Amino acid sequence: FDMFVLAFVERLFRTTYKKDDFVLGKKLGEGAFGVVYRVSLANKPSSKNEGDLVVKKATEYGAVEIWMNERVRRACANCCADFLYGFLESSSKKGGEYWLVWRYEGQATLADLMLSREFPYNQWLKCQVETMIVGEVQDLPKGIGRENRIIQTIMRQFLFALDGLHSTGIVHRDIKPQNVIFSEGSRTFKIIDLGAAADLRVGINYIPKEFLLDPRYAAPEQYIMSTQTPSAPSAPVATALSPVLWQLNLPDRFDIYSTGLIFLQMAFPGLRTDSGLIQFNRQLKRCDYDLNAWRKSVEPRASSDLRRGFELLDLDGGIGWELLTSMVRYKARQRISAKGALAHPYFDKEGLLALSFMQ
Ligand code: ADP
Ligand code: MG
Repeated sequence: FDMFVLAFVERLFRTTYKKDDFVLGKKLGEGAFGVVYRVSLANKPSSKNEGDLVVKKATEYGAVEIWMNERVRRACANCCADFLYGFLESSSKKGGEYWLVWRYEGQATLADLMLSREFPYNQWLKCQVETMIVGEVQDLPKGIGRENRIIQTIMRQFLFALDGLHSTGIVHRDIKPQNVIFSEGSRTFKIIDLGAAADLRVGINYIPKEFLLDPRYAAPEQYIMSTQTPSAPSAPVATALSPVLWQLNLPDRFDIYSTGLIFLQMAFPGLRTDSGLIQFNRQLKRCDYDLNAWRKSVEPRASSDLRRGFELLDLDGGIGWELLTSMVRYKARQRISAKGALAHPYFDKEGLLALSFMQ
């Protein structure tokens, strides 16, 4: 209970915003449930001016998204885009509209970066990311070893953010490159768009069942909870039960499947386009979601592009392929957790050496 009082007091003293404070700029995105704009502040004294911001005008689900962002702000602030404020704007003609305000994190999502032909050598990403791992990467010649190191860094940062969300009890449910942004301020990848997220610890999860998860990235199980689980339990009951439900159902593994698909797309340029990914999904389904079977079916007649992806994942005794296959699995409970993935030898140079010596 104290937690709620504290949160309330914190919100009272925070800078607040209203509709007239904003000058709308470029439209950054438009989904089924809201429109996102880059905005600047009008008539604010410079001390109050926070620089560029982002506003999402959302429909009725905006209330959940504000709730999720408030929770993330308190529990794992650096996992997600920096959320500043959310409010109900009731003066608009359309009736109630929720406005959500974030700091502008940067110009590129992982989707933007990946769609560039030069990925992962994007000049711009190079300046941002390679400076952090410059000691590690500088000595590597251009080639798959170096590419692998950059992909490793992106995966590690992303998994760190995802583990933060999961440890807070939040399942994102819409993990995809479009919802991963490179924060130019902190020079790390952060998660955005909690519009479809579920908080299992307090049972906040009222996206309707018919809500369409992005079919390109969704795990084969349709809902994150088994069908035996009563849906959207009331808050007090859920607080008492949900850690158990979490253990039983491992709903976080839904996000892990999507994460595996992102890893796959980074390794295989041909799977970065919608058509490439959709074709892969069809092939994987035909192989009963067995990645090893998929590999067997495509490798003999693989394009040079595919072969290069396998080569990258096979580095260091195939440790990348091992991590990928532990994420993309049919059964949720057989998938690795975000924390488990971070501890995987793929990210550990000593572990890499140990493994290659063992083989
Ligand atoms: P939706 O997918 O529901 O339209 P998102 O929250 O994913 O809404 O935002 C849409 C797009 O707006 C993102 O893909 C990203 O390009 C941009 N965007 C969202 N939040 C930020 C932010 N904090 N900083 C910079 N760009 C952002
Ligand atoms: Mg989005």
